[in-house]
Amino acid sequence: MKSLNSPDLAARSLVALWHPCTQMARAAVTPPLAIARGEGPWLFDLEGRRYFDANSSWWVNLFGHSDAGLRAAITHQLETLPHVMLAGCTHAPAVELAEKLSALTGGALGHAFFASDGASAVEIALKMSFHSWRNRGFEDKREFVCLRNGYHGETIGALAVTDVAVFRDAYDPLLMRAHIVDSPDARQGPDAEARALADLRRVLTERRGHVAALIIEPLVQCAAGMAMHEPSYLRAVRALCDEFGIHLIADEIAVGCGRSGTFFAFEQGECGWPDFITLSKGISGGTLPLSLVLTTETVYQSFWSEQVGRGFLHSHSYTGNPLACAAANAVLDRFAADQVLEKSRVQARLLAEAFAPLAADPRVAHLRQRGMILAFDVREPGERFAERFHLAARAHELLIRPIGATVYLMPPYLIDAPTAQFLFKAVMATLTEVLDHAA
Ligand SMILES: *Cc1c(COP(=O)(O)O)cnc(C)c1O
Repeated sequence: MKSLNSPDLAARSLVALWHPCTQMARAAVTPPLAIARGEGPWLFDLEGRRYFDANSSWWVNLFGHSDAGLRAAITHQLETLPHVMLAGCTHAPAVELAEKLSALTGGALGHAFFASDGASAVEIALKMSFHSWRNRGFEDKREFVCLRNGYHGETIGALAVTDVAVFRDAYDPLLMRAHIVDSPDARQGPDAEARALADLRRVLTERRGHVAALIIEPLVQCAAGMAMHEPSYLRAVRALCDEFGIHLIADEIAVGCGRSGTFFAFEQGECGWPDFITLSKGISGGTLPLSLVLTTETVYQSFWSEQVGRGFLHSHSYTGNPLACAAANAVLDRFAADQVLEKSRVQARLLAEAFAPLAADPRVAHLRQRGMILAFDVREPGERFAERFHLAARAHELLIRPIGATVYLMPPYLIDAPTAQFLFKAVMATLTEVLDHAA
């Protein structure tokens, strides 16, 4: 057998694999890191060089790589039942997971529908909303409203409510027409929220009786470049959705599972619950693909009928996979037993303290944070900033992928004071290198 080394594996990868979110013609400039193993927040390449996973491997990791508790839960499940279909059968891991999530919403969102990736959960929520209105005789409610720069996944339906040009533009001719309204992105100034709400009210008034749902990313529009807004926005949209009789879909695929400081970001609105919550990414702690949609008794009841066609017949082959559900149950048990939220609030403060000097750095604007997400914008990033920053950071033991001119950290919940200092120093050294080089 050939012995593996990082450059060889990267080269073979660039031939045999089509990497996601990557222009392959430019991939040779930043050849993929060949990762052999992970431990805690660290990833190790084939030669044993380490990289701190500052973006939690696309926001999925919560407790670090190769976590012993999650491994035990998955292994135990693997020994008894790796998979069974969820039509005509059921299994304890799925039932327990749905019950635990229901309990976390105080029973308000007591019905869980499973899928395997985030975009599919968004598709499910959109379909359920439309079909629920249809079953209740509101056939005209078939339009969706979403936010400027919002991101909800890249399948055709999810892309229709996504407003990130690089993902959307090529496919625009294929997409269902959604209404895109102003974002409450606080970087747009103190009246951004008021303007966003006025724009939403305008669309809901113009399209009264035609809108099925509004879909939002509560508190942080992550793929937009960590655009943040206040909980007051959640209260206001909940009230507007009630006033106009439309569903509110809270896409918590990125911000759920404690990332924002509460288990669900929407909780911080202190205004009850949305009609749908989508979850994925962190729910299985970064181990196995799993997503789900939580919804209300009202939505559930609207499908209850002797007629098959009034039911929600959507399915995916791996719906409710027991291994992924076992991992998710272990994640939720950890939240319950190990004060994960309390500890993550302490960790968020450590990050805030370590990065505080950046607030006075003239190269930087909009230093901001919500829970375990910290971000800032670079004022004069120059050409291909994200690519250059990502590449330069590798030499500082940091795996980080800026979004445009936004540098962000979304680390596993494993931050202590020395780690926060390490991250600050690595980010500063990289920033200086990249900006000096551009000048
Ligand atoms: C990542 C993400 C999705 C899509 O999830 P995938 O598993 O990548 O399909 C949808 N919505 C939000 C808010 C996300 O961050």
